[in-house]
Formats: sequence, C-alpha cells, structure tokens
Amino acid sequence: MDVVFLGAPGVGKGTQAPRLAHRLGVPAVATGDVLRAALKQGTPRGLEAKAFMDRGDLVPDEVILAIMKERLAEKEAARGSVLDGVVRTIPQAEGLDRMLGELGRSVNWVLSFELPESEIVRRLSGRTTCDVCHTPYTGRAPSTPCDRRDGGSLVRRRDDEPAAVHKRLEVYRQQTAPVLAWYETHGGRVKAIDASGTPDEVFARIGAALGV
Ligand code: AMP
Repeated sequence: MDVVFLGAPGVGKGTQAPRLAHRLGVPAVATGDVLRAALKQGTPRGLEAKAFMDRGDLVPDEVILAIMKERLAEKEAARGSVLDGVVRTIPQAEGLDRMLGELGRSVNWVLSFELPESEIVRRLSGRTTCDVCHTPYTGRAPSTPCDRRDGGSLVRRRDDEPAAVHKRLEVYRQQTAPVLAWYETHGGRVKAIDASGTPDEVFARIGAALGV
C-alpha cells in the first residue's frame, strides 16, 4: 500500500508516518529527513538543499524526484511506502504517479492532516527533534537525550525559528495546498484526518480511516 501524507508543517506527519509504516510493514520515507541527513554528511545534494531549507523554501522538484526514485527502488519499499512530506508540488505528484505506474502501483490513499494555524505555530515553537532518528518532540528542551536511547539528543531545527515557520506556512498555502485539489481530481483516494489531540488519538483516526 502506498500512502501519501499531506499537511502543513507541524501537523504531526513525522510522528504518525513511522507508526503507520510499522503497522503496514512498509518503510516511511520523509524527504525532509533524507535532505537533513545529506546535509549532515556534506553531500552535494545536501549542500544544494541547505539554503532553500534554512529559509523555509521548497527545494527544487528535480532533487525531490531523484530522492523518490531512489527510495522507491529500494527492496524494502517493494510492497509500498508511507510518504511523509514527499509530495509538495503538482509536478512532484505527477512524478510520483509516473514512478509508481512504472512499478504497477498507484497512490492508494492520500491523508490530509488538518489543524488550525494557531495550534501549528504553538507546536512548532516548542518542537525539538532527535539528531539521530529525527523523532519530533513537543515541549522538550534541546540537549535532552532521545527516548529511543539511540545516542541522539534533541536539537531545535533552524527552520522552526519563527521567520522560517511563517515562510513554510506561506509556501504550504501557495504550493502544497493545491496538491490536495490535484489528488481529488486525479482519482487519489483522499481522507481528511483531524490532527488535533494526542498522537494516540490521531493514530486511532488514521487506523479507522484506512481500515487497518
Ligand atoms: P520537513 O522536514 O518535511 O518539514 O522538510 C524540511 C524542509 O525540507 C522543507 O521546508 C523543504 O525545504 C525541504 N523539503 C522536504 N521535502 C520536500 C519536498 N517534497 N519538496 C520540496 N522541498 C522539500
């Protein structure tokens, strides 16, 4: 099963994607995590993406399409994937359709995570993320060890600073929100998910929406 997660930054996609992936037995792919790892390793792709990411802009479609292609070709993704933040423009949605089509697959579900903007800003302003496994936390101080005991400690993302958050929300409204309308007219099965409440409550809604 291939599931696309759509939603503004801070709605909880990064918390829910690994949980759903685990339940479905497929990998979770987050282009943001792939790009941050590339940047940490100092690869040309990471360095190219850095300026876009730091100011909250989208990185160019070609970079994202190349990542999609690599990740979908991996053996562990042969039975599907949970794509978190991987599709943020219409050319990316078209590219994903093409690539899945070549594998004899198509997007099974599009989950649209919905949360008021005031709550998004509140969550992002208190967010820290593990520098090893990228698990996001709300209300935990930087430098705290990650709960997964993987040697990681919590860091504040540069693009969670207020100026970049506002830019990312604007980019979401202008470039990513139309992707939802695109899926609605291109046969994608879209389900709206109320992203308020605890992670367990949101996960229960996802399970009920998909029947898994
Ligand atoms: P995220 O971790 O999903 O919030 O992504 C962090 C940043 O990575 C975004 O603000 C973009 O700069 C970049 N990025 C991640 N995924 C994409 C994508 N599908 N298209 C364009 N830029 C992306």
